[in-house]
Amino acid sequence: MANREILSSRTETLNKYLKLDQKGKIMAEYVWIDSIGETRSKSRTLPELKDKEYTPEDLPVWNFDGSSTGQAPGHDSDVYLRPCAVYPDPFRGSPNIIVLAECWNADGTPNKYNYRHECAKVMEANASLEPWFGLEQEYTFLDHDERPYGWPVGGFPAPQGPYYCGVGSGKVVLRDVVEAHYKACLYAGVNISGTNAEVLSSQWEFQVGPCVGIEMGDQLWIARFFLARIAEDFGVKISLHPKPIKGAWNGSGLHSNFSTKQMREEGGMKYIEEALKALEPHHSECIKEYGEDNDLRLTGDCETGSIEKFSWGVANRGTSIRVPRETAARGCGYFEDRRPASNADPYRVTKILMTSIFGKI
Ligand code: ADP
Ligand code: MN
Ligand code: MN
Ligand code: MN
Ligand code: MN
Repeated sequence: MANREILSSRTETLNKYLKLDQKGKIMAEYVWIDSIGETRSKSRTLPELKDKEYTPEDLPVWNFDGSSTGQAPGHDSDVYLRPCAVYPDPFRGSPNIIVLAECWNADGTPNKYNYRHECAKVMEANASLEPWFGLEQEYTFLDHDERPYGWPVGGFPAPQGPYYCGVGSGKVVLRDVVEAHYKACLYAGVNISGTNAEVLSSQWEFQVGPCVGIEMGDQLWIARFFLARIAEDFGVKISLHPKPIKGAWNGSGLHSNFSTKQMREEGGMKYIEEALKALEPHHSECIKEYGEDNDLRLTGDCETGSIEKFSWGVANRGTSIRVPRETAARGCGYFEDRRPASNADPYRVTKILMTSIFGKI
């Protein structure tokens, strides 16, 4: 039997159990971010609340073994999980929930890999600017040989061209996974704004936004968790590596679209230009926050700007920053920072954008 047929007959068997009543209890899946920027999760049972939904304040602080995730030493291994956002669970359905949690050390300090805590402070301090973010998450499906899904064994597919926004067999793969992910995000209230097949064969993108402040990081991390979890269901792997295949094959980014209230209003172009001027001297500081192995991707080719130099342009995809044509034409709107890599932490990206433009808090 093919792998997929085995999976579907097992799913039928599983469905028998999933229909069973939960007897007034719910399953809460606590999700956190580990030391290498991947999501981890574990489940616990909680009482179902009467006439009320769980909020982060209602949820118990929990813990995990940080020595098993590279987040704490063995002699002091308990890391605390402090709930910070709650979503309906698209896997188990209502009334079960997904709980995004921040990692804290036993001594009351944020864990080394907790980038949310400082980001939230910056967003709080700048709330009056009404910062909106929209992130474009590019990723590649891998087969179990760690090469892009559907690529010929030991060889390469036809050159890039037909795959971007492609339709049809031979052009795109695994649309079922993409559709499942889209629906899961909508079900959970994640502000997914769209999806498209990308330039590299087996590469896709989804966008989340606009989101205000800290919600950007929260929602993108949950969307990443959903993608990994759904890919598990379908028996395929996701790679967030920014350059999955070396050479003239497009890499993966996390284009970061940004605006403030002033930029979105009439005459906003003035504030966009001011922001770009402020960003320029922070180029290398930003690059440090924009993901691992990004030097392999930001070569100045394959629709990227060089990692060495800050640049911007209208409708230009070979620059650090692109001002969309429509924004330039209307004289207000937003800009796109094309530098972040697909594996960047959205809390780090949104925080450094804010502090580079508006100053440290
Ligand atoms: P691209 O043309 O670069 O492929 P996409 O359509 O993939 O752009 O993504 C654009 C992202 O920008 C979306 O997530 C969208 O919600 C977001 N966006 C739109 N308007 C704004 C704005 N004013 N401020 C911040 N983000 C925005
Ligand atoms: Mn145990
Ligand atoms: Mn896009
Ligand atoms: Mn893209
Ligand atoms: Mn883009």
